[in-house]
Amino acid sequence: MIPIRSRLHLSSLPAQIAGICLALAVAPGLAAADAEVNLYSARKEALIKPLLDRFTEETGIEVNLVTGKADALLQRLKNEGANSPADVLLTVDAGNLHRAKEAGLTQSFRSEVVEEAVPATYRDPKGHWTGLSLRARPILYVKGEVDPKTLSTYEALADPAWKGRICIRSSSNVYNQSLVASIIAADGTEAAQDWAEAIVANMARPPKGGDRDQIKAAAAGQCDIAIANTYYLAGMLKSDDPGEKEPAEKIAVFWPNQPGAGDGRGTHVNVSGAALTAAAANTDAAVKLIEFLVSPEAQAWYAEVNGEYPVLEGVEISPVLAEWGRFQADDLDLIELGELNSAALMLMDRAGWK
Ligand code: FE
Repeated sequence: MIPIRSRLHLSSLPAQIAGICLALAVAPGLAAADAEVNLYSARKEALIKPLLDRFTEETGIEVNLVTGKADALLQRLKNEGANSPADVLLTVDAGNLHRAKEAGLTQSFRSEVVEEAVPATYRDPKGHWTGLSLRARPILYVKGEVDPKTLSTYEALADPAWKGRICIRSSSNVYNQSLVASIIAADGTEAAQDWAEAIVANMARPPKGGDRDQIKAAAAGQCDIAIANTYYLAGMLKSDDPGEKEPAEKIAVFWPNQPGAGDGRGTHVNVSGAALTAAAANTDAAVKLIEFLVSPEAQAWYAEVNGEYPVLEGVEISPVLAEWGRFQADDLDLIELGELNSAALMLMDRAGWK
């Protein structure tokens, strides 16, 4: 874990002085009721708590953290309605953020800090949510089994040459729904339908397990290609457990749809993000927390512990990620992943994608 303090400019000041400066800077806009913010997080406590503590240290605003699974938190927000104590929802995938917005569980907010830090493609155009970190879902392949020269685009995985060689999880998973949504956005519904059918035909086995299981299946020789988010691979590589580390070491990353390959639109990316809830009572404090999460210090730490990429440009990435090289990300507005989510799901169903 990277100590956050070492990355902050204030670390050179004695703590009391820094505390006083920050209290003065923060106090004027804050009513007494804004001294706390209630956060519902689909990210595990260990992946967020140190940042929240740092935020409290800087601003004096207490953060009350509730963690849970994304779907359960959305249901909880629905059940609580206007009485929900939640101010901020933290979850993964633009598909989930969009669902929360469509269900009326979020509200728009304006923040120059957020608008300046986060590219528009990674934010809701109406300001209901913003991305906090980027996750890439490229093609992973088994070293020595696949010549990367034979790889180019997601679309090219439809070729019968890949028959029985692809591992990918089920269509009930929002990551795949968003990937298919990106194919619809790029190629149209009909082509995306054909693509999904071809992928099903090329699967090495019926979809089962999570992204890590696809990586492990590939390493074990059950398939040559796995589609998975890279932070899983990063997590496995950093693991002390040989059952995680050894399979990961057999796997390489290929960035599909780079310039010169197909339409060159870039590799599919998604975000983890934050939304201001519809019921938020502590809106000033809530927006301050979101702004803190896109600050350079928070971005570096958050991306590092999650094995993800910062949304803020110019922030250093972790050494494991740096080894896989730079890539061009699909510049699709992520709002489209949400808007095309149900179309993607129906299409996968029709294709027999379990
Ligand atoms: Fe995940």
